[in-house]
Amino acid sequence: MRWLEQKDPETHLAIMQEVEREQDRLILIASENYVSPSILEAVGSVMTNKYAEGYPGRRYYSGCEAVDKVEELAIARAKTVFGAEHVNVQPHSGSQANMAVYLAAIRPGDTILGMNLSHGGHLTHGASVSFSGHYYKSVSYGVDPKTGLIDMDQVRSLAREHRPRIIIAGASSYPRTIDFAPFRAISDEVGATFLVDMAHISGLVAAGLHPSPFPVADYVTTSTHKTLRGPRGGMAFSREAHAKALDKAVFPMMQGGPLMHVVAGKAVMLREAMDPSFRDYMARVVDNCRVLAQTLTDGGYHLLTGGTDNHLLLIDLRPQGLTGRDAEQFLSQAGIFVNKNGVPFDDKPPTVTSGIRIGTPAATTRGLGQEEMRQVGLWIREILDSRGKAEVTQKIAAQVRELLSRFPIYGEIRR
Ligand code: PLP
Repeated sequence: MRWLEQKDPETHLAIMQEVEREQDRLILIASENYVSPSILEAVGSVMTNKYAEGYPGRRYYSGCEAVDKVEELAIARAKTVFGAEHVNVQPHSGSQANMAVYLAAIRPGDTILGMNLSHGGHLTHGASVSFSGHYYKSVSYGVDPKTGLIDMDQVRSLAREHRPRIIIAGASSYPRTIDFAPFRAISDEVGATFLVDMAHISGLVAAGLHPSPFPVADYVTTSTHKTLRGPRGGMAFSREAHAKALDKAVFPMMQGGPLMHVVAGKAVMLREAMDPSFRDYMARVVDNCRVLAQTLTDGGYHLLTGGTDNHLLLIDLRPQGLTGRDAEQFLSQAGIFVNKNGVPFDDKPPTVTSGIRIGTPAATTRGLGQEEMRQVGLWIREILDSRGKAEVTQKIAAQVRELLSRFPIYGEIRR
């Protein structure tokens, strides 16, 4: 980054600070990952300069030959990776992918049925503070208080009562496999469109480690920067019958010019997802998460649903009398980043919460395996058991640094 260092030292310094944080701290935030150097290059490329409103071969600007190529690559690869009929690779984010589907499939004022934000759903599934709760009548289902699993009886009875125009399956903090077939049956029964938001699990779906939503869903959305390990962004898929409506919803209804440098990054991401090593990576993510879950359970910590099937787990800290906010802070003092997370039926506000969410995608990308994850679980236990005692967090911070020095990442872009 020699240009930036000379021309704008302040911005350069901030970026280097982030490089150092990502290198020297343990990222266990379930929605984060490290992109490959190839993706960094694509996203940092001159394609950021190009206006390309429209679609390949049908642009509103001249000079789109090269950007057409990357968008066509991304489209073809996305269809291959997921076995999809149609994809739009232009949404700027996962939230915008969801907005595009609503714009394509329903009208303002229609009823939507999605998972409650406080039970693990996403803002865009109908939360009142999001456009989705603002412009649509939102009804939400949750999890069974005893098992922590999605309450399908509730989904069915709410669907029968409210007759939603769209039903959304998918979550931001749900540690178990989601069975999409019953959602499809309920959608058919009440005449609803069925959307699966696979943002968190799209890497697992690509690797064949989570059942695919494509055989049953009308629309599928994802963000691209979580388990799929691509640049920040989104993709929206549909059945061929809805292809035109979806493309019109993305552009011109919702967005202007696509971020072609990010579309290039998505093309690279999808090529990486086709490589057999990606399946191995995702399998290691899941194995690591299981080891972490077991280590925490052995230490007396209560995991929602009793464990995990995927890349994340949720600890309910109420038995320990700890808040998610305090736990997040104690762990960050030792260089371990997780995020506070509400637990179902939480009595604490979202700024405090009674739980934390932990995920293994980023740590697995840098090479940590089961032995290391067990060690990490023991550190988390020690820090939380001590309630963030300074001598404990300081001792473990040094151990975390030593461990991570054996698993370098982005070494070549360090100053
Ligand atoms: N959908 C789900 C299930 C998510 O977890 C998220 C992000 O956390 C999104 C959508 C939104 O993605 P973005 O942050 O890219 O808008």
